[in-house]
Amino acid sequence: MLNFRIENILNPYIYNIYIICNEFISIHIISKTNNFLTLYDSHFRCNKLKNIKIVKQYKNIYFDLDRTLWDFESNSKETFKDIFDKYNLIDIFGDFDIFLESYKKHNDRLWKLYRVGQIKKSLLRYKRFSLTLEEFGIKNDDLAQKIADDYITISPTKKQLFPGAHETLKYLNSKYNLYIITNGFNEVQFVKMENSNLDQYFDKVFTSENAGVQKPNKKIFEYALNSVNAKKCESIMIGDDLEVDIRGAKKYGLDQVFFNVVGCEHNEDITYEIDSLKKLQEIL
Ligand SMILES: [Mg+2]
Repeated sequence: MLNFRIENILNPYIYNIYIICNEFISIHIISKTNNFLTLYDSHFRCNKLKNIKIVKQYKNIYFDLDRTLWDFESNSKETFKDIFDKYNLIDIFGDFDIFLESYKKHNDRLWKLYRVGQIKKSLLRYKRFSLTLEEFGIKNDDLAQKIADDYITISPTKKQLFPGAHETLKYLNSKYNLYIITNGFNEVQFVKMENSNLDQYFDKVFTSENAGVQKPNKKIFEYALNSVNAKKCESIMIGDDLEVDIRGAKKYGLDQVFFNVVGCEHNEDITYEIDSLKKLQEIL
């Protein structure tokens, strides 16, 4: 049985490895695929010795907020129920789920436009409701604006988190520097974190508004790491969105944890994948 020790990490692709057997033998590693190193004997490079998993020593953990820690769907639904009752929207839509389905369709489309800079925040906030009303024959700018304002005010007061959020963050906070990278709006995200008592665990919150760009743009990851002098090789990104969080972090060169609570099927090569927050305690 061989034991392995990794020393002198020169760059992400070249490691000096020592195999501890009867004596130390210096080995240079020339092959790295994802999280596995292939060991080759230093004297006989063609002799593949063993594949070993790289266990990195992280120092910095970057979390996404919405749908990763803060249960966006449940909190949104609660908010919309409040709004649905307040404005008697049953008279327009007949059913809460029909209203929600229509809103989600318009919201998703407008968010995509906002993400690529084609519309402004103020238009996104208002238009997603005016289009939902218009789809059901209601042209009422005043009502759309009131709903838009209420949504921004009420939604961040909701407090539902994913199971195990506090327990896991408490554990991680004792071992790592914790940060948030979020595409949400400043005035909403900070209120959410305070109301749900998440702010106590995080050293800093990086928002797309402050960074000037949104995930998956690598500049937001660069901004979040440079701001606290964090190294890529000592940092990892955790998020629920394959495109925005995972591919974004990967393109920048960060390791990733995909919080795949909805069981999304994919072929992406990801550092770690979990279906509950508590599983972070097994890998970090
Ligand atoms: Mg998210």
